Amino acid sequence: MDKLEKLKLLGESAKFDVCASSSATPKRFQNAEIGRTAPSGVCHSFTPDGRCVSLFKVLLSNHCEKDCLYCPNRAARDVPRSSFAPEELASLFMEFYRRNYVEGLFLSSGVRYSTGRTMQDLLETLEILRTHHRFGGYIHLKILPGAGEAEIEKAVELSNRVSLNMEAPTAFHLARLSRSKNFATEIMGGLSRIHRHVKTQSGVSHSTQYIVGAAQESDREILDSAARLYSSYGLKRAYFSTFQPVPGTPLEKVAAAPLLREHRLYQADFLYRFYGFRMDEIPLDPAGNLELTVDPKQAYALKHPERFPLEINRATREELLRIPGIGPRSAKKILLLRRESLFQSADELSRIGVVTKRAFPYLLVHGRQPVSPREVSSRLTHKPLQGSLWGDGI
Ligand code: SF4
Repeated sequence: MDKLEKLKLLGESAKFDVCASSSATPKRFQNAEIGRTAPSGVCHSFTPDGRCVSLFKVLLSNHCEKDCLYCPNRAARDVPRSSFAPEELASLFMEFYRRNYVEGLFLSSGVRYSTGRTMQDLLETLEILRTHHRFGGYIHLKILPGAGEAEIEKAVELSNRVSLNMEAPTAFHLARLSRSKNFATEIMGGLSRIHRHVKTQSGVSHSTQYIVGAAQESDREILDSAARLYSSYGLKRAYFSTFQPVPGTPLEKVAAAPLLREHRLYQADFLYRFYGFRMDEIPLDPAGNLELTVDPKQAYALKHPERFPLEINRATREELLRIPGIGPRSAKKILLLRRESLFQSADELSRIGVVTKRAFPYLLVHGRQPVSPREVSSRLTHKPLQGSLWGDGI
């Protein structure tokens, strides 16, 4: 297999790993291959200083000795296989980097021969990049479950971000997805070792990923697991990836999870990380799942009519962040501006970024509700409303 064929295969095989909040949109120009990086997998990610970088996302090998039930690269699946040698992948990445195709690397691999040997190959690739090519840019390395202490230490030393996939929130759920991954020793033990080493290096963070909807887990189980990792394992970020059945795997007949479920999990995760919601405040249905028809912050407000409307001139930061349509940035501005003078009219709120359409039924400005009582009651009836994930003011 030549380099380009390998690249297509191993870039395509890496697409199930999430490292980005948005994916590159593939563009097609006839007979124009120079600069066309989409087939090999280019995604975008944010570095700790807030820059958005394009990452070359690739597997070192799609050979795998394991048989995870959902995975397109599982040993028993009959698919074309290939591997890069560490120096080959390092030079290819540098070629792309020098041509400005990519700014950083996201590297993962199937387990070729053994976990130890594959980790050695991954680390050798990074070592070549850092020492021989003197590459000082962004590298995200996926650590394999079962990696040893010394391998994790080295991975943290050479990377800007490392991650180890949870895949499922509990041992019980993981057993439904994989017979070869040990939840206690390989996943939780690995995350604990990563945390220990990440703490000693500045500028390095770690993340994880859950497959959503393949193991009959509830949203509560996923969110509780992520909260535990944030508080006890120093996790920077949890990613949620909707399960999509892959033909030729034992889970091929399991229905795909709705994409909206992934979106709701991200919204709930944002409420926990940036809006100061406790996990037990996030509204769930009796089965422990987020509602799909309404975003979690709106669902919270609808569930607690006794807490609204809130006077914008008196509400605390914590209260402001519970009003739909007000996010951390607009809450900060409200608190700052209030020190100078009190808000007199609703117009002043739209000028500072409050999503007024969502917020008005839940607040008072100088004692007055900005929308009519009829409008308030129609909003407070359970209407499907979509909140933007990325803007300020879920
Ligand atoms: S270890 Fe499991 S999830 Fe990872 S590549 Fe192998 S089969 Fe797939």
